[in-house]
Amino acid sequence: MAKYDGGACIICGDPAIEAHLFPKAFCKLLPLDDNDNPISDFPVVELDKKSKFYPSKTGVRDNSILCQKCDNLLGVLDKYAFEKLEEFKSEYIYPNRRELIRQELSVPEYILHKSNICGEKLLLFALSVIWRFSVSRCYGNDLHLGPYKDLIKRVLFNGEPLPPSVDGHVTVVVTENRGGENNFRTPVSFRINNARAAWFYLCGFRFVAKFDQRPFYGIPREAMLKNANEVFFLLQPWKGSPEEKIISRFINEDHPAMKFLSRKLKTKR
Ligand SMILES: [Zn+2]
Repeated sequence: MAKYDGGACIICGDPAIEAHLFPKAFCKLLPLDDNDNPISDFPVVELDKKSKFYPSKTGVRDNSILCQKCDNLLGVLDKYAFEKLEEFKSEYIYPNRRELIRQELSVPEYILHKSNICGEKLLLFALSVIWRFSVSRCYGNDLHLGPYKDLIKRVLFNGEPLPPSVDGHVTVVVTENRGGENNFRTPVSFRINNARAAWFYLCGFRFVAKFDQRPFYGIPREAMLKNANEVFFLLQPWKGSPEEKIISRFINEDHPAMKFLSRKLKTKR
């Protein structure tokens, strides 16, 4: 991976730290087998559309975007998202995963409800992750946010209100066991019905944000996060999900990621 000399914080100009692009707390998660034993000690991070991958205990970082003080401002959102999403997985997903997978297959547009998570905060968290990657010299190339890059910065650091065109939703990708869900996919841009959007995957949750006046078609209104005091998650089984397809490709192509994984597994036993 390219190394850069430390630069200045792009918000205030102070010396930059090694800022995590995916929040540090999520990088510490260990995937567990059905007996709750760790099966690996790092998440697999996909870097871009070309499916470069990067296995890492500490996630991906950039030392040219944020100082400690400005990073701490985003840390409040990171902490909120990590605690709420982990609580949600412990209470709703882990005990019911097989039942949820079956239900989703029989009921289209199945939505899970969790009332004590604030949708607006989760949206800000998603935007903060997308923004961190968008300003990174290492990873920003796959994100085409146009004027929204600066606009999101002002929302996150200057407290400006979110514009009406920005919104998002979250899909819970339910795996058969915990091992499958503990990988990351770095944010990339895409268009849905011509609307500009970006998505990323983080430990069982797929975050999608739109940066466009046009609405998302086909997404239930309740699932949108903007101005929501509670969250309705969409639900998708791991099998057939875009995330599963990436891992399957690694396996089928005897990708170096799999060699790394099996080496790590052998040394553990
Ligand atoms: Zn700063």
